[in-house]
Amino acid sequence: MYAAINKNLLVQAKKLCRQRNVRLTPQRLEVLRLMSQQPSAISAYALLDLLRFTEPQAKPPTVYRALDFLIEQGFIHRIESTNSYILCPHFGTPMHTSALFICDRCKQVNERTTKGVETTLKKLAAEVGFSLRQSVVEAHGLCTECVEREAYDSQHDYLEYPYSFRIKRE
Ligand SMILES: [Zn+2]
Ligand SMILES: [Zn+2]
Repeated sequence: MYAAINKNLLVQAKKLCRQRNVRLTPQRLEVLRLMSQQPSAISAYALLDLLRFTEPQAKPPTVYRALDFLIEQGFIHRIESTNSYILCPHFGTPMHTSALFICDRCKQVNERTTKGVETTLKKLAAEVGFSLRQSVVEAHGLCTECVEREAYDSQHDYLEYPYSFRIKRE
């Protein structure tokens, strides 16, 4: 199922680039393809390692240039706070304000967009005479699974180390 979605995504990216008259080079496409296979956010260096399977001569600037292009086209987002990149699920819309919910435990990123955020930010920007181009809200915390895992772990700790747990609590 994932493979089909990813293939669809790449076809869509190609189509959008043709419409916008920008060049989606094989290298840029390969970086996008690699990104579409990631279950969570990925760093530029991890991407470089993956890219080297097909392009052994690839250097950091190769990846950064490709990433910049993909960001410009609205295909991916850069997560400033973790210095990593994530595929955008809202492909066709290059300008959108998104809230990225970043799990600090498993690094999973959940992107949500809503009109409200954009309206609020625009209003705040207007108050200080700021012309807003793009904004990304980065929120840190735990995803649903990790909340459960953490609850399980603390219970597990309690059963295994009742004394240290009790000391910690006091
Ligand atoms: Zn997005
Ligand atoms: Zn998580």
